[in-house]
Amino acid sequence: ESTSAPNFIRNQILEEIEAGTVETVVTRFPPEPNGFLHIGHAKSICLNFGLAEQFGGDCHLRFDDTNPAKEEQVYIDAIKADVEWLGFHWAGKVRFASDYFDQLYAWAQHLVREGRAYVDDLSADEIREYRGTLTEPGRPSPYRDRSVEENLDLLERMREGEFAEGEKVLRAKIDMASPNINLRDPTLYRIRHASHHQTGDKWRIYPSYDFTHGQSDAIEGVTHSICTLEFEDHRPLYDWFLANLPVPARPRQIEFARLNLNYTVTSKRKLKLLVDQGIVDGWDDPRMPTISGMRRRGYTPGSIRRFCEMIGVTRADGGMVDIAMLYHAIRSDLEDNAPRAMCVLNPLKVVLTNVPEDHDEVFEVPGHPAREDMGVRRLPFTREIWIDADDFLEEPPKKFFRLAPGQEVRLRNGYVIRCDEVIKSTAGKVEELRCSVDFDTLGKNPEGRKVKGVIHWVSAAHAVPLEVRLYDNLFQVEAPDRDRDVDFLDHLNRESLRVVQAFGEPSLADVEPEARFQFERVGYFCADRHATSDGRRVFNRTVSLKDTWAK
Ligand code: ATP
Ligand code: MG
Ligand code: MG
Repeated sequence: ESTSAPNFIRNQILEEIEAGTVETVVTRFPPEPNGFLHIGHAKSICLNFGLAEQFGGDCHLRFDDTNPAKEEQVYIDAIKADVEWLGFHWAGKVRFASDYFDQLYAWAQHLVREGRAYVDDLSADEIREYRGTLTEPGRPSPYRDRSVEENLDLLERMREGEFAEGEKVLRAKIDMASPNINLRDPTLYRIRHASHHQTGDKWRIYPSYDFTHGQSDAIEGVTHSICTLEFEDHRPLYDWFLANLPVPARPRQIEFARLNLNYTVTSKRKLKLLVDQGIVDGWDDPRMPTISGMRRRGYTPGSIRRFCEMIGVTRADGGMVDIAMLYHAIRSDLEDNAPRAMCVLNPLKVVLTNVPEDHDEVFEVPGHPAREDMGVRRLPFTREIWIDADDFLEEPPKKFFRLAPGQEVRLRNGYVIRCDEVIKSTAGKVEELRCSVDFDTLGKNPEGRKVKGVIHWVSAAHAVPLEVRLYDNLFQVEAPDRDRDVDFLDHLNRESLRVVQAFGEPSLADVEPEARFQFERVGYFCADRHATSDGRRVFNRTVSLKDTWAK
C-alpha cells in the first residue's frame, strides 16, 4: 500500500491517539489556485490524504484563495482533476478559504476591539523598513496607537472601498521587538480592488495567508495542519491568532521538508514562466514536473504514490532527491503492467530475399511475458520488414551482436536472418539490406552455431506510422535555480524533445488515449492523451529501459 510507510508525523499521531489527546484525524491539502500542481504537491497530497486514510479520518481539499489577482478557475479545475487522478478523495465539498471571509472579517474586528489590531497608513516599503531586521528590533508605526473607535471606522471604510490600494492595511498589534520578525505586527488585511473568482466584487480588502490559514483550519476542525518548513517561523503567529480569537478548535501546525528534485524546478512561478514564454507546450507538457504533465508523459498514479513513499517524510531538509528514483518508480510499474509491442524508431528497410512476395505467416506472441491476462499479439511476417538503423553496422566492432555484413541476428519472436548484401545510395548512405532467412530457427537455436543478438522489427506491409516524441530532462544541470545570479532559463536543455517518425506493429494501430506500452528494446511509451483523442497516432516516451537508480 502506497500510503502506509511510517513517518514522524504518523508516529506522533499514533502517540497522541494512545495518550488520548487525539480522537479523530482531520488534515487538509491547501493549494493556492495560481498554477497547476507539481511533484512537490504530490508529496503533500500523499502525506495529508494518506494520514487521513490510515487513521480513518478526513482530508479536506481547501483552496487557499486570498490573492485574487493571481488565481483562476482553470487552476481550480486542474487541481481537482489532479487530486482525483492520483486516487484520493476529499471529505465533503471542496472548500475555499474565501468561504470564511465574513468570519475572518468579524474576527479582525474582534482583534481591533480587544486592542490587538490597528489600521496603519504606512506604505508597504515603510512597513518593511520599520519592521527591522534579524539583528535590529523594529520600530512602532506612528499609527499604532489609534483608538479602537477610529480603527473600527477605518477598517469598515477599507472594506467599503473608500481607500486606494496600498493606502492602508490592518495589522496585528503584537511585538515590534520580537526576535521573530513574523510577530512584528504582521499584516492582516490589504486593500485590493480586484474581483475574486469566488466572491466576485464583494470584497475590496483581502486577508493575508497568516490571518487566514489557522482560522480556516479551526473552522473546519482540522487537527493536524501540515505544511513545509518555510512556515516554521510562522507557527508562533499561527498559534497567536488561535489564542487571541474565539475559534471553535485548536489545530496544530506541523512542518516537514519540501521535496527538491534534481534537473527540475518546482516553483509554480517558474513553471508558469515556462508556459507563458512558450518554452513548453502548456502546463501539461510531458516535460513538466506537473502532475498533469507527468500523466501525459505516461506516469501512473500508482508510480507517483510509490515515489512519494520511497522518498519518505522527514523534518530535516533532505537535500535533493535524484530524479532517477522517479524513473525507477514508473519503470517498475510498467515493467509489470505495460503490454509489449515492437516499434522501430529509426527505420531501415530489409528485404528478405528467400521469403516469397505472397508469404503469409503470422507469429502469435504474448502481450506480456508474465501476464497471460494480456492475451496475444499477432505479428505478420513478410518479405519486407523495417529494422532499426542502429541495429546495423557495416564495420562492426567486436561484440556487436546485431546485424552486419555476413553476420546473423534473430528477429525478435521470429527467425534468424543473415545479412547478404548492403544497398547504398551514390552518396554512400545505407539504404536497404538484403538478408536471407533460416526457416529452421523458429523457437530454436540454429544448427551448429550460436546467434546471440536479437533485434526488433515490423512488417513493412503492416507497419503503422507513428509520431514518437522522445523526451529528456528540461534542464541540463542538477539545480537549475540554485544560483541566484543566473537565470534558471539559461540551464534549459535545448534537446529535451526530439520527434521521430516511427513504424509500429499492428497492435499499435488503434489504442486508447493514455495506453502504455513497453516498446521492446526501446523504452516505455504512452499514447498522448490529446493527440490520440484527435485520432492521431502519437506516443510519448515515458522513460527509457535502463535503470540508473542505485538503491
Ligand atoms: P509553489 O512554491 O510551487 O508556489 P506553494 O507552496 O506556494 O508552492 P501551494 O499551492 O501553497 O503552493 O501549496 C499547497 C501545499 O503543497 C502546501 O501545503 C505546500 O506546503 C505543499 N507543497 C508545495 N510545494 C511543495 C514541495 N516542493 N514539497 C512538498 N510540499 C509542497
Ligand atoms: Mg502557498
Ligand atoms: Mg507559492
